[in-house]
Amino acid sequence: MINITFPDGNVRQYESGILGIDIAKDISSRLAKEVLSISINGKQKDLNHPITEDAVIRFYKWEDPEGKHAFWHSSAHVLAQVILDFYPKAKLTIGPSIEVGFYYDVDLGQEAISEKDFDKIEKRFMERVRENAEFKLRKVCKVDALDYYTTRNNEYKVELINDLEDGNITFCDHSDFTDLCRGGHILNTGIIKAMKVMSVAGAYWRGDEKRNQLTRVYGVSFPKQKMLDEYVLMLEEAKKRDHRKIGKELELFAFSQTVGAGLPLWLPRGTRLRLKLEDYLKKIQKRFDYEQVMTPHIGNIQLYKTSGHYAKYGEDSFRPITTPQEGEEFLLKPMNCPHHCEIFRLKPHSYRDLPVRLAEFGTVYRYEQSGELHGLTRVRGFTQDDAHIFCTPDQVKDEFLKVMDIIFIIFKALNFENFEAQISLRDKNNQEKYIGNEENWEKAEQSIIEACQEKGLPARIEYGEAAFYGPKLDFMVKDAIGRRWQLGTIQVDYNLPERFELEYTGEDNAKHRPVMIHRAPFGSMERFVAVLIEHTAGKFPLWLAPDQVVILPVSERFNDYAYQVKELLRSYDIGVLVDDRNEKVGRKIRDNELKRIPYLLIVGEQEAENGTVSVRKQGGKDLGSIKMITFAEHICEEINKEMNAWQKE
Ligand SMILES: [Zn+2]
Ligand SMILES: [Zn+2]
Repeated sequence: MINITFPDGNVRQYESGILGIDIAKDISSRLAKEVLSISINGKQKDLNHPITEDAVIRFYKWEDPEGKHAFWHSSAHVLAQVILDFYPKAKLTIGPSIEVGFYYDVDLGQEAISEKDFDKIEKRFMERVRENAEFKLRKVCKVDALDYYTTRNNEYKVELINDLEDGNITFCDHSDFTDLCRGGHILNTGIIKAMKVMSVAGAYWRGDEKRNQLTRVYGVSFPKQKMLDEYVLMLEEAKKRDHRKIGKELELFAFSQTVGAGLPLWLPRGTRLRLKLEDYLKKIQKRFDYEQVMTPHIGNIQLYKTSGHYAKYGEDSFRPITTPQEGEEFLLKPMNCPHHCEIFRLKPHSYRDLPVRLAEFGTVYRYEQSGELHGLTRVRGFTQDDAHIFCTPDQVKDEFLKVMDIIFIIFKALNFENFEAQISLRDKNNQEKYIGNEENWEKAEQSIIEACQEKGLPARIEYGEAAFYGPKLDFMVKDAIGRRWQLGTIQVDYNLPERFELEYTGEDNAKHRPVMIHRAPFGSMERFVAVLIEHTAGKFPLWLAPDQVVILPVSERFNDYAYQVKELLRSYDIGVLVDDRNEKVGRKIRDNELKRIPYLLIVGEQEAENGTVSVRKQGGKDLGSIKMITFAEHICEEINKEMNAWQKE
């Protein structure tokens, strides 16, 4: 008999040689139906892999990234099989799963796959999966593996096999198809119920432009047809909401190759939006007793050697800046934390001073590969809404609760209704890789779990996902079209206080190390604004809209009155502009609707005579004619309500 340990620490006994799928069946028929993959002692394996010794196992379903990975990896095998069905001379190379879906790189020789072939590939793919063939992994010796692909004239697989060690080579068979593969499959093809070819592209063998160009076929597959339909709809909607497109239309931000790739330029409208977000967070942080600090964009290289960030970012990021002083080097700051540690260290602290909460909208720089840059979500310079909390081990839970309050307030004001969290804890079976003492880890982990429970926040616990320096809590929001984004984060750190030798005097009069907590509710301003644009499709809540009201005089005769209204609204601190172009009012309405300005005010003869405005809400709803001062008060009230929604509860 062998002992099988589950993630929650439960142990069950089974006959040696039992298959993962049989353990799943033993637990429940429902699990057996839903399970897609398994990890055995931390390694992802096939569900039909026999377990012959004591092991820690974990099952993965569709909800788990590992489950999707197995599903899409297996789908790539079927795609390769189908490509061979149509192009028997094609040479297969590699076909991994990716974030969403999978691809296969093939050398098609003189042939080509284009969009008009997608349909037939999809049809054939579905015929193939209905064969309900089991994925079976088998060991092959190197000689046989090489022989198999040499007879098939596939120099790519031969090259791959040559790099492998004999004894470690496996083939995966399903139906009449065989591929070189390490494993990690779903049980059989029948689980795949829907598939779509997404695109074809060129790719170089092993990413090397000096080597052969291959055809990369991208696909995605699902366990239900409905999921594919929803995914396709979501993609169409996502295209319309692309923050790069809306950012350009609304003149929020831009990039200039002259300034440099990945370095965003915030335009006036985008800056207004961003500053409103920053001011809002600053106001809330003040309520929670944070102190605002400011630190420079560069720091002496020594600082980052102490913090360990030089080792992490020094080589692969922006290179150090030299000065006329020989031997002196500075680094563009990759993180704000070391600067804040220095601030904490400047004066002695007693336990009575803690927690110390230092906040900064700090801009950091990291060199992302140019291929990785993407709008505002992947950039080379970005501003974190950063703060560091220095506290005692006993204060960790309370601080988590408070940061969670801040995050809830913000999400609420921005209409993110749907969020959940991930708690990243230690790998219980591999504790030596973490720094900090056992008692504090235990306390911090427990604090995070309890804080989530107290707040009623749905949280998924991930063992082994903690950083070596501390456990953390990440927030995931679901946007208006169902996509999940990782945003805010709260992270415990036992490492930096150690490296910077931070201390405070305890009640016992002895010196102690404070616990450091990093937290950023937005993550970064760039990424957050990108998510917000895609979530709202550019229709920001009134309080946040860069322009809140636009006044449309029906003819030039009423421009003066329009400017009078503007002055009044401005005195109420409302973002307002006048469209005084010599255009028909219908045209002005259409143009300004596209700018997603929440309120359109139409003014003409009657309005000018009565001191009123005709109010039209973005989207077309007519609210009739009201006194301009009543409108001003009404709009202020609405803004107030949005910004303080959280206080009502
Ligand atoms: Zn495989
Ligand atoms: Zn930090």
